[in-house]
Amino acid sequence: MNSNIKVPFYSLEKIHTQCADSLQKAFNETLQSNWFVLGNRLQLLEQNFANYLSCKYVAGVSNGLEALQISLLALGIGAGDEVIVPAHTFIASFIAVTQIGAKPIPVDVNPSTCNLCVKNCQAVINSRTKAIMPVHLYGNPCPMNEIMVFAYKHNLWVVEDNAQAVGASFTEEKTGTFGHINACSFYPSKTLGALGDAGAISTNDTVLYEKVLRLRNYGASGKYEFSDLGLNARMDELQAAFLSVKLPYIDQWNAERRQLALQYENFFSTVGYLTLPQKTPQSFPVYHLFPIRTNLRDELKIFLLQKGVQTVIHYPQPPHLQVAFKYLKYQKGDFPITEKICNTTLSLPLFPGMSEAQQNYIIDCVKIFFQEKGK
Ligand SMILES: *Cc1c(COP(=O)(O)O)cnc(C)c1O
Repeated sequence: MNSNIKVPFYSLEKIHTQCADSLQKAFNETLQSNWFVLGNRLQLLEQNFANYLSCKYVAGVSNGLEALQISLLALGIGAGDEVIVPAHTFIASFIAVTQIGAKPIPVDVNPSTCNLCVKNCQAVINSRTKAIMPVHLYGNPCPMNEIMVFAYKHNLWVVEDNAQAVGASFTEEKTGTFGHINACSFYPSKTLGALGDAGAISTNDTVLYEKVLRLRNYGASGKYEFSDLGLNARMDELQAAFLSVKLPYIDQWNAERRQLALQYENFFSTVGYLTLPQKTPQSFPVYHLFPIRTNLRDELKIFLLQKGVQTVIHYPQPPHLQVAFKYLKYQKGDFPITEKICNTTLSLPLFPGMSEAQQNYIIDCVKIFFQEKGK
């Protein structure tokens, strides 16, 4: 790491120190078991994670993108179908829809929460619309009550992209349990991270669950019998074993995230020219990220880096303006709220294990920046 870095954007060091012995033990036991794919360790993780979410079924898969893709495939969505997605999201939400042959239909987001705006969905509904994919971006739950009402009214499937919000809740129920079928990611930097790639699908629907089990394993319905055109998207036993070690800590780690977010909010509430993340009253976010917004974003980013504080922009360019999605034929200005967010947002370091001294240092740097600007 650059020696000038005083606060890294993210670090797993502290939380992994807490459970390093158990992770080593999990590795040794898996090695000795000589069973590495679709075994007891995955089954145990699936049960534990289903209990954690209070959801009937969980199926472990290879990563968050595959979790989204398989969820859509299980619903029978494909060529000619349209799926509503928030314009402001990580590219994976869009890619999952294109990979199964359907078309992502972006709608602009709520300027305050940065999440899917139900009001904007009405205008894009047509006979091809099959599903809606709310993304709990930054770990901030979408208004699932409104979304479910809207979906039932228009006969749409709901697939939550819960990649950034594992452990968050809405009206006291965990995100990833509202939609018909839902996807999450255990990418290392997510709120519950594997030691590599992994993801999961959660659902209360037996038929969808059984289809997912086939789709993640070549579409196999029995030994060398294939009923569906599936994928190889299984979660390794090793990752499942590691995740079972880390799962019991998730609430503690998320509580730490909330405490850090609260501290930021307290100190920044008096700084003008700074927009803080907003949530709906029923939401209990996990602060996967802590994005602030300011028109002086680029200058602030450089200033903080000079002070040794790493920051990241989530995201500098929305999916509809990426070269990969040129075929959708959107242009600059089509989703003004999303574009404004992309031009003004800056994520500050926030991770379990971040020290008070580190956070105070960041807060001081930000305050100095705005003082110098006379704001
Ligand atoms: C991380 C992420 C994904 C994809 O998860 P991977 O495990 O990296 O494939 C999907 N959607 C969102 C919003 C994400 O942040």
